[in-house]
Amino acid sequence: MITIILGPPGAGKGTQAILLSRRLGMNHISTGDLLREARMSDTPLGNQAARYLDAGTLVPDSLVSALVAERISKESTHFLLDGFPRTERQAEDLEAISIKEGQRLAHVLFLDVPDDEIMERLKKRGRTDDDLEIVEKRLSIFREQTRPLIEYYSDRNILSKINGVGSVEEVYSRIISILS
Ligand code: AMP
Repeated sequence: MITIILGPPGAGKGTQAILLSRRLGMNHISTGDLLREARMSDTPLGNQAARYLDAGTLVPDSLVSALVAERISKESTHFLLDGFPRTERQAEDLEAISIKEGQRLAHVLFLDVPDDEIMERLKKRGRTDDDLEIVEKRLSIFREQTRPLIEYYSDRNILSKINGVGSVEEVYSRIISILS
């Protein structure tokens, strides 16, 4: 089974994904973490990804989809995808991967947080790709390339919109009530 957590940068996807994977035993796949790890370990993939990571732009679809396909092919478990898919092409790739691996795409959780709150959160987080200019770039990429996935998945009747404003535990319990 596959669950996706979707939302703008700074919506709390990573935090919620860590809680869900710890408490429910889901296998957390964060493409951002995988790409940052690849960069740290100086692999060819990491070197290719580095300039996109630093600029806050999207790593090419084929690279990211291959990374996810490799992970999903390794075991049959409940996967939680955090930060993937981010484009319609990636969503199509994921559909093909799930069919190939016999995995059901069960839920897409959209964490909804207003832009002004996102800006405040990202300014506080202090990651290297959280500089104001890069934050704005990442938000506009989200609006242009990732937001259309909300319609893509609501057309497939698997999207749940979750209010992402509140404490970590408040948002977590909203997610749990949808999953159960
Ligand atoms: P995240 O940790 O999810 O905020 O991702 C950090 C950065 O990793 C993004 O700004 C992109 O450069 C890259 N990245 C992560 N996931 C993807 C993806 N699905 N497609 C393209 N680039 C990605």
